[in-house]
Amino acid sequence: MRQILVAGNWKMNLLGTAGTALTDGLSAKYPTSSVEILVCPPAPYLASVHAKVSGSAVRVGGQNLYFAPQGAFTGEVSGDMLRDVGCSSVLVGHSERRQCFGETDELLAKKVAAALQHGLQVVLCVGELLAERQSDQTEAVLKKQLTGLSQVTAEQMANVVIAYEPVWAIGTGVTASTEQAQQAHAFLRGELKTLYGEQVAVATRILYGGSVKADNALELLSQPDVDGALVGGASLKADSFIAIIEAGIQAMSRRA
Ligand code: PEP
Repeated sequence: MRQILVAGNWKMNLLGTAGTALTDGLSAKYPTSSVEILVCPPAPYLASVHAKVSGSAVRVGGQNLYFAPQGAFTGEVSGDMLRDVGCSSVLVGHSERRQCFGETDELLAKKVAAALQHGLQVVLCVGELLAERQSDQTEAVLKKQLTGLSQVTAEQMANVVIAYEPVWAIGTGVTASTEQAQQAHAFLRGELKTLYGEQVAVATRILYGGSVKADNALELLSQPDVDGALVGGASLKADSFIAIIEAGIQAMSRRA
C-alpha cells in the first residue's frame, strides 16, 4: 500500500518567524502521523525549520539543488548541503524552475541523479501548460518530462516520488478535476511500468499539485492513483495545511 505524502512548497514566502510559527504548529500536532508530511522552506530557513520539527513526523525538503557536489557555482546549493542542514527530500523540476529559470529535462536528469546519490528523496515535478492540454499534448509532455528519470535505476526509484502539477492549475485557484488528475496519474503510472516494470510502477507515489485546498483535497486524494498532494499557497497557513493533512489521513485510512 502506498503511503500518502502531503508536501508543502513555501516557494519564496514566509520570513523566519512566520515559518517557525507555522512549523511549531505542525510539529506539535503531528508527533506521529499515518501520512508522510514534508515542508519545503526557502533555503536560508532549512536548518532552523529542521530544528523545530525534529522529533515530530514532519520532514524538511529543499526546493532545488545543483548537480555538482561543490565548487564555483555562485548561488547554488548541493545535495550534500541539503543533507547537512537536515533535509531528507528535495523538489526537482518544479514548473517555476522550468519556466523562470529555464531548467531543461537534461539538466533535471542530472539534478535527480545527484540528489539520489546524496541520499535525498526526490520529488520530480511534471505537468503540462494550458496550451499543451488544449492541443492534446498532455501525455507527450509528461512522457518527455519523465526523461528526468533517465539516470535512475529501478532500485533508486524507491526514493523517487513524482508530482503531477498541471501548470494551468498552479497558483491559479483552478484545480484539475478529479477525472483529469486520475487520468494523468494513471498515464504516468503506465509510463513508469514501461520504464521500470510493474513492481516499481505500483510502488511509486504520484502526488497531485495545483490549487489543492482544504475543500478539494479529500476528493483528489481519494482517487486510486493519487498518492498525496504537493501544496503551494495552502501550505503557508497552519489551518489550511493541517486540513489537507487531515484529508490525507482520512484517505489513507480508507486505503488500509
Ligand atoms: C506548487 O507550487 O507546487 C503548487 C501546487 O502551488 P498551489 O498549491 O498554490 O497551486
